[in-house]
Amino acid sequence: MTDTIQKDKVVSLAYTLIVDGEVYEEWDAEDPFEYLHGAENVVPGLEAALQGRVAGDKLTVTVPPADGYGDYDAEDFQEFEKSELPDAEVGMPVMLEDEEGYLFEGLISEISGGKVKVDFNPPLAGKTLTYEVEVLAIRDADEEELAHGHAHGMAWSDEDWDDDEE
Ligand code: ZN
Repeated sequence: MTDTIQKDKVVSLAYTLIVDGEVYEEWDAEDPFEYLHGAENVVPGLEAALQGRVAGDKLTVTVPPADGYGDYDAEDFQEFEKSELPDAEVGMPVMLEDEEGYLFEGLISEISGGKVKVDFNPPLAGKTLTYEVEVLAIRDADEEELAHGHAHGMAWSDEDWDDDEE
């Protein structure tokens, strides 16, 4: 029986992500992207479009912001004193920790009047995403992958997922 993409399968893809008419990200057959289907490893619109597909399928998936990285939230900014971020430059990414110890990445969007404005929107918030995808391979996830909620493949190392904290 042919394997189809469904929950708990590890899927290898080659894909090109196009945003605003430009290539944003590219994975090819020699260096494929692997993910665990049904575990929210990829944006919901892409995961839904891949459900039920088989190896060899090629498709173009257009994902609106709502099924991608969400709408751009004009409120999702925070202001800091310049003295708190002395090295700040516009366009520079910063990592900040909340009270519970979660790390957030933001991008410095403005520096004026002794204040630094940090944008916490995901970089692709508000963008329509176009994926040109080829399904390369599908396999069962192993128990460790299911427990971790992600694939252990070429694309990811456990460091990317902070497994040592689990
Ligand atoms: Zn893991």
